[in-house]
Amino acid sequence: MTKLCVALTEKTTDELLAAMHALDRRVDLVEVRLDCMAAYDLRRICSGKDRPIIVTNRPVRQGGLFSGSERRRVAALAKAAALGADHVDVELDAVHLLGQLPAGCARIVSHHDVEGTPDDLESLFRRIRAAGADVTKIVTTARDVADVGPVLALLQRHAARTPLIALSMGEEGLASRVLAAKFGAYLTFASRTSGRESAPGQVPYGQMLDLYRLDRIGADTAVYGVVANPVAHSMSPTVQNAAFAAAGLDAVYLPFKVRNPATFLEAFEPYDLRGLSVTLPHKEAMLPLMDELDELAAGIGAVNTVAIRDGRCYGYNTDVGAAVKAITGAARRAGLLPLARRTVLIVGAGGAARAIAYGLRDTAGRVVIANRTVARAEALARELGLEACGLDDMPACKPDVLVNTTSVGMWPRVEESLVPTSMLRRGMVVFDAVYNPLRTRLLREAEEAGGVTASGLEWFVNQAVAQFELWTGQDARREVLENVVRSRLAGG
Ligand code: NAP
Repeated sequence: MTKLCVALTEKTTDELLAAMHALDRRVDLVEVRLDCMAAYDLRRICSGKDRPIIVTNRPVRQGGLFSGSERRRVAALAKAAALGADHVDVELDAVHLLGQLPAGCARIVSHHDVEGTPDDLESLFRRIRAAGADVTKIVTTARDVADVGPVLALLQRHAARTPLIALSMGEEGLASRVLAAKFGAYLTFASRTSGRESAPGQVPYGQMLDLYRLDRIGADTAVYGVVANPVAHSMSPTVQNAAFAAAGLDAVYLPFKVRNPATFLEAFEPYDLRGLSVTLPHKEAMLPLMDELDELAAGIGAVNTVAIRDGRCYGYNTDVGAAVKAITGAARRAGLLPLARRTVLIVGAGGAARAIAYGLRDTAGRVVIANRTVARAEALARELGLEACGLDDMPACKPDVLVNTTSVGMWPRVEESLVPTSMLRRGMVVFDAVYNPLRTRLLREAEEAGGVTASGLEWFVNQAVAQFELWTGQDARREVLENVVRSRLAGG
């Protein structure tokens, strides 16, 4: 099973030992980064360790901090080995400087490329093996998420038979750190906590264990993820991993920072990729890459969900149905169904407005799109056969249902609203696409006026449930997903 190694970058021996002893017992190994330490006592480190350690003294040329002489640098590794270190990590270009190691100390021979991904990882692997490695370690830098593909391929070819560590640094390389466990890598690295990374792209070990459930990942684990750029803020990994855990499914859901959806799909499809959430800015670009499209995705021209079955990509749009469900749910509570004789005012003319306008155009009696940039509202209205106006003309629409699809009111500018309180009245349905905060100023004022409200949370959860069900064919436990979102929004 792939071990989890936390790289410690503390400055002193006391700090290092204290940090080590405070780690969760599920952390198998610790990497002691001598190059990050201002001063160290190898004897105390080796006698005070509470689990196996790797001692590393990385030079600047391979992404470390050591800038002194090579002989001194490697001599520290030899000394650590003599004092009882379980592994020492020596770079391929310095391996000749390290003599015989005592029994019980494994020689990790490594190569770190801090610029990119070498073309021929296979020949690098062979050279490291030939240099007498007990454990072969190859670390690359992912400039693009597709650079992870060759690293996973290397693991897939060799990790079952040869102790091998292979991973890609950088945010784009995150999948290699987690999927290392799928291919039986010797170990994967994590940081102690956020901000204490010893290499770019490391995530805190708590996330590796509790979010990605590293100790559950194995050869058969199905891979899912969100395709976005940027992706770091996405709540989907928290939500969908919790859904998979609650359903007891052997699956992991990753954030993929993607520039080009086509090269991403090509790189990851061979590795049990089963499903994707697709968000900004790739919903349109994903469409032509699909083997089949559902009617909604084809109609609206945007794919937000991909299911991959037997090598074929099926594109869906769950945004539309999820938003319509939230809005009609509130309309039902308000006694406004059917919507055929109702006026719906959609504020905003971006992607969210487009999904909702598309979803309501055939059921609502009248749909008006109001936007700050009137030309944009007019273009969308023209395309969908609806009406358009500027923000000043909203009151004249006299809506029964009002939908905010702009980001106005979103944290941190929570005191903003585009809708004058004079427009809000008893029995009116008000839906806000914004979910942070859950109760926006618009929703608060609508409730004060006696309106019936629905928040962006419902939209978000509805579509997460729809995605989970499309991928797995199982009913999602909605309350699990909703609780995770609520706790994330509350800062948990
Ligand atoms: P978008 O394509 O960038 O559109 C943004 C819209 O907001 C535009 O119509 C823009 O008007 C308007 N706008 C922005 N700032 C404004 C301001 N200060 N005053 C007046 N109008 C302003 O974004 P989107 O993808 O449609 O997303 C919009 C919001 O919906 C975001 O907050 C997003 O988080 C939320 N959303 C929520 C969910 C969910 O699951 N709950 C799903 C999707 C989206 P102009 O055209 O004049 O610039």
